[in-house]
Amino acid sequence: MNSLRTIFREIPRKLVTNREIHTCTPLLNHAPGPLTQFTDDEIMMKESVAKLAKEEITPLVKKMEKEGKIDDGILQKLFENGLMGIEIPSDYGGTGSNFMTTILAVEEVAKVDGAVAALVDIHNTLVNSLIIKVASKEQKEKYLPKLAQNYAGSFCLTEPGSGSDAFSLKTEAKKDGNDYVINGTKMWISNSDIAGVFLVFANANPSAGYRGITTFFVDRESPGLTVAKPEDKLGIKASGTCMVHFDNVRVPESNILGEFGHGYKYAAGFLNEGRIGIGAQMIGIAQGCLDATIPYTLERKQFGQDIFSFQSMQHQIAQVATELESARLLVYNAARLVEAKQDFMKEAAMAKLVASETALKVTAKCIDFMGGVGFTTDFPQEKFFRDCKIGTIYEGTSNMQLSTIAKCLRKEYS
Ligand SMILES: Cc1cc2nc3c(=O)[nH]c(=O)nc-3n(C[C@H](O)[C@H](O)[C@H](O)COP(=O)(O)OP(=O)(O)OC[C@H]3O[C@@H](n4cnc5c(N)ncnc54)[C@H](O)[C@@H]3O)c2cc1C
Repeated sequence: MNSLRTIFREIPRKLVTNREIHTCTPLLNHAPGPLTQFTDDEIMMKESVAKLAKEEITPLVKKMEKEGKIDDGILQKLFENGLMGIEIPSDYGGTGSNFMTTILAVEEVAKVDGAVAALVDIHNTLVNSLIIKVASKEQKEKYLPKLAQNYAGSFCLTEPGSGSDAFSLKTEAKKDGNDYVINGTKMWISNSDIAGVFLVFANANPSAGYRGITTFFVDRESPGLTVAKPEDKLGIKASGTCMVHFDNVRVPESNILGEFGHGYKYAAGFLNEGRIGIGAQMIGIAQGCLDATIPYTLERKQFGQDIFSFQSMQHQIAQVATELESARLLVYNAARLVEAKQDFMKEAAMAKLVASETALKVTAKCIDFMGGVGFTTDFPQEKFFRDCKIGTIYEGTSNMQLSTIAKCLRKEYS
């Protein structure tokens, strides 16, 4: 009988893409465990975040939604419990954990509130992550301890005229002596109502097109920086999403994050990672909604029996639970690829696409399973439904995820 190795050699070369060979390369000298298996540290964080979410965040969800603002005490607790510096090394006052831990933390928070999950996700996967991987030692010493302990961060890429086409941004940074002077407007900036620092993508050399895009640290108190009032949104209402104006905001050259002209690379690269965080937010919201729904279907009686007993109900519940588990595995696999330092662009886009579309389906179905009460604000399903709609839009719409997946496929098969 042919050995597997011989069979592999006999497969026509063209049918085995580089990507497949790469994926198949054994990384361990033992069989890898299931994707839902975690390290002790990951389990510890998952459990402690679940407790914090249940005991501290849940009682304030309605109040925060009504006020359109994250409660100050909750923000404080997120910092105290290491949730705002999950991957920040302990030398800088962070938790020093891995990317998977961030994903699990975002998922657990999202089970009770999508808005707080958005704050934790964007702060960790876009702002902290970019600084950890790209900033100079001095910049890390200046910003990481604050971001771990008392400063929220915002990632300022989108503008009124540039959303999906992010690199057509118009905000400019003009050199003036040893400084740069920033002018422009950013739109839809999450956490900007409370942020202490803004990572701003501005074009510092427009003649080079998108290759002029450079990333700057801008402190909140910088003269000329103004944050407009938060947008009134469909969901994640407590997450402050505002326009941020830069009117002759002067920053020293030392505020350039990473390399001059590399902003477009950082935006593209870190959004790939961020998308896995959005996937985690989506599976968390969907799971929270399902967890609040199934017990009701076991109790609610119609035609003399609980509504879970009807086979058509069972099949629909089983269907959405299965789709949610599939989405979760895509998210966890993309996170493990990041940790394994393997290509993950396609898998991250797939994870975000499937998790956000699945969350919409699961939460809509849960409202159906609840009947009339699911349509009222007395029950949490309608909020889960509204909160997950953002998943198909921010950090790249579903169309843009499909474009990314198609781009990767073309490369694999070319
Ligand atoms: C609540 C919220 C929070 C946000 N937080 C942040 C943040 O913190 N930082 C930040 O920088 N941005 C943030 N954003 C911006 C977000 O990333 C953009 O809204 C998103 O990328 C879409 O851009 P757009 O809104 O301009 O839509 P558009 O780009 O105008 O897209 C509109 C429609 O056209 C489709 N479309 C556009 N181009 C193509 C194409 N080439 N092929 C196929 N379809 C296409 C889109 O899929 C979409 O359906 C946030 C947005 C929201 C709503």
